[in-house]
Amino acid sequence: MAAAALFTLILGLAMLAGPGEAEQTPADPAAADRRQMIQGQIEARGISNRAVLDAMTRVPRHLFVPPRERASAYEDRPLPIGFGQTISQPYIVAYMTEALQISRDHRVLEIGTGSGYQGAVLAEIVDKVYSIEIVEPLAREAQQRLQALGYRNVEVRVGDGHRGLPEFAPYDGIVVTAAAQQVPDALVAQLKPGARMVIPIGLPDRTQDLVLVHKQADGTISRRVVLQVRFVPMTKHKSAA
Ligand code: SAH
Repeated sequence: MAAAALFTLILGLAMLAGPGEAEQTPADPAAADRRQMIQGQIEARGISNRAVLDAMTRVPRHLFVPPRERASAYEDRPLPIGFGQTISQPYIVAYMTEALQISRDHRVLEIGTGSGYQGAVLAEIVDKVYSIEIVEPLAREAQQRLQALGYRNVEVRVGDGHRGLPEFAPYDGIVVTAAAQQVPDALVAQLKPGARMVIPIGLPDRTQDLVLVHKQADGTISRRVVLQVRFVPMTKHKSAA
């Protein structure tokens, strides 16, 4: 009798909760994957900047990868995005974003738009993001994707990132997401005093140094290697035949 009453009570509670509530599609089915990514890959490795963690909790990474990669979007690795390019591993995006020490009223330059994911993460944190991509179709796709997702503060330009984007300089932060042979002078020149740049330096298909460049208030430049990474190479436009 008591057991039957308990059963009825549980049944009643289950019905109060609504039919098949657990099966209903939540507003964002990837939210749980994202929380797991943040805790297991990012916080677990020491990233603690609230703005960075919140930004990566919000950006729907699965919508920045091709449909066939979608199921892997929250895994602990880079993924192919076409044209021989990759979207960086989530932890690397978090690390580079945190290293910039950026905040709301800032203006940031990204070199290597790729999928637009890093740009979206930056756009969650700062007022304005400029992003340069050398592969025109990737730039176009990324701009459309960012637009569709409501990121109105990211502007994608087609061009060679070695030159930066002098017309909107100086920047409060610069993030380079392709490996350069050396730190381009133009990018250092476009950093605001007090601002930081993160840039992978090294050869393609090798482990590269992630270099943190800091332009001090008096203009002095300091550099240090903060991490070992592997990025696709930063290319140059082939001169017209
Ligand atoms: N940040 C991207 C990943 C970038 S992969 C993301 O979040 O998805 C590196 C990108 O840099 C590629 O899309 C590549 O085409 C681009 N790239 C390579 N050389 C470049 C250059 N000289 N200028 C601008 N972009 C460049």
